[in-house]
Amino acid sequence: MRADKLLSHLGYGSRKEVKKFLKQGALKVNGEAVKDGKAQVDTDVQEVEVFGEPVVYRDYIYLMMHKPAGLISATEDENEETVVDLLEPEDALFEPFPVGRLDKDTTGLLLLTNDGKLAHRLTSPKHKADKEYVVTLAEPLSDSAVQQLEAGVTLDDGYTTKPARIAATDAASVVFITIQEGKYHQIKRMMAAVGNRVKELERVRMGTLILDEDLNPGEYRELTEVELNQLS
Ligand code: URA
Repeated sequence: MRADKLLSHLGYGSRKEVKKFLKQGALKVNGEAVKDGKAQVDTDVQEVEVFGEPVVYRDYIYLMMHKPAGLISATEDENEETVVDLLEPEDALFEPFPVGRLDKDTTGLLLLTNDGKLAHRLTSPKHKADKEYVVTLAEPLSDSAVQQLEAGVTLDDGYTTKPARIAATDAASVVFITIQEGKYHQIKRMMAAVGNRVKELERVRMGTLILDEDLNPGEYRELTEVELNQLS
C-alpha cells in the first residue's frame, strides 16, 4: 500500500496533514523514515512505525457490539442514529457493517465486520447459523404455543417458519428461543402467530458467538482470536 494511503487509513488526518507528517519523518519503515507518500509499504513483511508506535495493519475488523435500543442496524441513515455511529473513528475507518439486522427496539449481540464473505456465511439461509434470543412476552408462553413454535408457525404473510427451539427460564413470560432463519421481525411475528406479544427482545448468540456479559448496551470490543476461529 502507498505510504500516504496507509497513514490516512490509520486515521492520521487529511491528505494535507498526512503529507506534513510524512515530511516530518513520522513514518519509519525498517527503521528508516519514509517521506514520499507514493512509496510502497508492506506491513506484512516490513517493520512499520508511526510516531514511534508499531503498526500492525490488517484488512479486516470484527467487532462484537451490545446493541442498545433506539439505534438502527445500518451503516448510515438520514434521520436515525445507527450502530456505526457508536464506533470510534479508528474502527469506523475500516467501514464495518452490521451482520444481519436487529430491529430498532431489539438489543443484544450484533457483529460488525467488513469481511463480506463471513457476513454472507452467517446470514445465508443455507448455512443455518443459530440465532438465540431472550424474549420477554406480554403473557406466559403456553405449552401449546411452545409446541406450535417448535413445529413451525404460519406468519401473517403465509410463510411457515422452520422449527424453533424454546427453553424456559425462571420467569413464565421470559423464554429463550433459537431460530436459524432471519425473516423481517421474525420473532415478533412468530409470537403474534401464537397469540402473544413481544415486549422485549435481546439476541444473545449467533452461531458460536455469545454476547459478552461484560459489554453494557452501546459498548463493543474486537472478537478474540478464539471467537473468530470458531466462526470461520
Ligand atoms: N426478530 C425480530 O422480531 N426482531 C429482531 O430484531 C430480530 C428477530
